[in-house]
Amino acid sequence: MTTTADKSIEFLKGVGPQRAELLQKELNIFTFKDLLHHFPFRYQNRLEFHQVVDLTTSEYAIQVIGTLSLIREVGAGRSKRMYARFSDSSGAIELVWFQGIQWIKPLLIPGEKYLLYGKARLFGSNWHVAHPELTPFKEIDKRVGYQPIYSSTEKLTAKGLHSRGIERLVQNLWTIISNEIQETLPQYLLEENHLLGAKEAFQKVHFPNNEQEFHEARKRLKFEELLLLQLELNLKKVRLKQETAGWVFEQVGDVFTTFYEHYLPFPLTEAQKRVIREIRKDLRSGKHMNRLLQGDVGSGKTVVSLLVALIGIGNGFQAAIMAPTEILATQHFIGMQELLKNMNVEVALLTGSTKIKERRRIHEGLQKGGIQLLVGTHALLEDVVQFNSLGVVIIDEQHRFGVAQRAKMWKKNTIPPHVLVMTATPIPRTLAMTFYGDLDVSVIDELPPGRKPIQTIHRFEGHRLRLFQFMRDEIALGRQVYIVYPLIEESKKMDYMNLMSGFESISRAFPLPQYAISIVHGQLSAADKEYEMQRFVKGETQIMVATTVIEVGVNVPNASVMIIESAERFGLSQLHQLRGRVGRGAEKSYCILMTGDKLSKEAKKRMATMVNSNDGFEIAEVDLQLRGPGDLMGTQQSGVLDLKIANLSKDGPLITLARDLAIQILEKDPQLIQSENSLLRATMIEVLKTKPNWGKFS
Ligand code: ADP
Ligand code: MG
Repeated sequence: MTTTADKSIEFLKGVGPQRAELLQKELNIFTFKDLLHHFPFRYQNRLEFHQVVDLTTSEYAIQVIGTLSLIREVGAGRSKRMYARFSDSSGAIELVWFQGIQWIKPLLIPGEKYLLYGKARLFGSNWHVAHPELTPFKEIDKRVGYQPIYSSTEKLTAKGLHSRGIERLVQNLWTIISNEIQETLPQYLLEENHLLGAKEAFQKVHFPNNEQEFHEARKRLKFEELLLLQLELNLKKVRLKQETAGWVFEQVGDVFTTFYEHYLPFPLTEAQKRVIREIRKDLRSGKHMNRLLQGDVGSGKTVVSLLVALIGIGNGFQAAIMAPTEILATQHFIGMQELLKNMNVEVALLTGSTKIKERRRIHEGLQKGGIQLLVGTHALLEDVVQFNSLGVVIIDEQHRFGVAQRAKMWKKNTIPPHVLVMTATPIPRTLAMTFYGDLDVSVIDELPPGRKPIQTIHRFEGHRLRLFQFMRDEIALGRQVYIVYPLIEESKKMDYMNLMSGFESISRAFPLPQYAISIVHGQLSAADKEYEMQRFVKGETQIMVATTVIEVGVNVPNASVMIIESAERFGLSQLHQLRGRVGRGAEKSYCILMTGDKLSKEAKKRMATMVNSNDGFEIAEVDLQLRGPGDLMGTQQSGVLDLKIANLSKDGPLITLARDLAIQILEKDPQLIQSENSLLRATMIEVLKTKPNWGKFS
């Protein structure tokens, strides 16, 4: 855009230094352009007028022209009220004010005509409106029509910048900026997708005359936002591919083949095979692999990660597998060591609690190259962990790690090792396209054969005794039971108390020596956790009482019951993850969601979703609708969430369109140098100016 657009907001008529500071702090509005991009979040339809006689209870907000009379104050101090009568030719409405009476009263003139706007309620046979908006009749022109509502804050409101105050600023802005708004998208894109031009879109989003204009405007602006984002992500992907060389793994190698032919404990599913082929292709390409592997809980990602590691090892490189918790890393290590026991592959485990001596041995073994496969936690990221020739890194449950941590692993070799990140938290397609737009994505969309679906049941506290009986029955069949309690930082103390009192009552109901119970929570030392966990894994205990530390990855095939306490406090994806801990053996499994009696509408929906669906992707879609993308993805990727108008949970079709178009455009014209894309190129240069590490595209 132009230099006017970049002017500090302070210099807009009606702003000044004080308001400017507030606008910056509260709404991130620094420049004229920022204000232009501060879009109304909804509109008031003020096209319709009502007559008192026609009012119905279904009316949301009413708009009546009438005369004010009988203004009177009742009561004193805090219980003071002001009433007035408002009548048109057909009837009368009672107006009432509870606050701000001393400011409002002097503005009201009995006998004058006003436009009344507000929410009407029927008490008995009388209509009431509390705190109505009254506009003097001669100013009506300014109020009727389609009114934008801007988000504001308490502090801004105190300085007169409530929605209407902001609206006035936008009006001031429009008079000076409207003629300078330039088109940012090429004509062919506007035509093919039936989009408004830039200027018209801005005008109609701020000053629409009706619903349709507002939809058209928003469509255009959302499209632009999403297209530019997708262009950015895909340019980055293309550039990374072109510029980041990758180690070439010529063959799958002996190690892989020997393992595959002799020691793989089960045939791979078709989905696992397909994913390995996709990865294999990357590893051979000479380009750096940066791939996301998505697969529901229990879909068998671990063995895929091992096979990928073996390809690296067979090509003379080292491999690393990183998991978010010590328990999970240990389990991967033990499992892999077991699978590899007849092969000549040196595996090591490195976590925060690895003893100094062992740690030294590992550091040395990694540098000399003796250790070929390193399994571990965040401890792998430390600078002291240096490899002889790290060829491939696999990050399990990657949503637990930040982008920065991913990047850290890149630096562990002269040419970055190939990176495979895995997640069992299925992400709706539209989100994956946005958050992981710079990654290639593989999906395991098939569970290993023989899994019986898990039956999920929602129960209330009154069911407790029958629940205990059910547990006894299952244990008598030789099964094991998980009981999980919520534990969050904000209510840690209470949560621990609940966990402990739950543990006590379970201990009473399941006494020694007939029963043994493990307990695992964050306040135990790693060694104690491990000990308790191992007792459960070995079948020495029948019940595991735990907090969500067991959420990720733990594998005890004999466990057939997952009881989740206070299930209403968990998010959907977490519930689904927890449920995935059972149903891993051949037996029928159960997930029991225990909740309080009073549930919010949203909590009910979550419980119902869990009861009705075992499909992680379907659950993720519901989760997205309920929580929105921010909560779903965590704050670590929030940079991508900086969307002004598009909505990742609601604009699915538009996201897909933008994605497809971005890919198409870049396939035909990777540098955007063809004349039809010159405008797009200029726009992207503008966009990328504000992003770090983008010097190269210009
Ligand atoms: P996740 O994808 O959740 O990490 P895991 O890798 O832990 O799942 O696998 C879950 C269970 O399924 C493990 O016990 C694993 O040994 C088993 N498994 C994985 N792939 C297969 C397969 N192709 N056939 C049978 N069992 C499999
Ligand atoms: Mg796993």
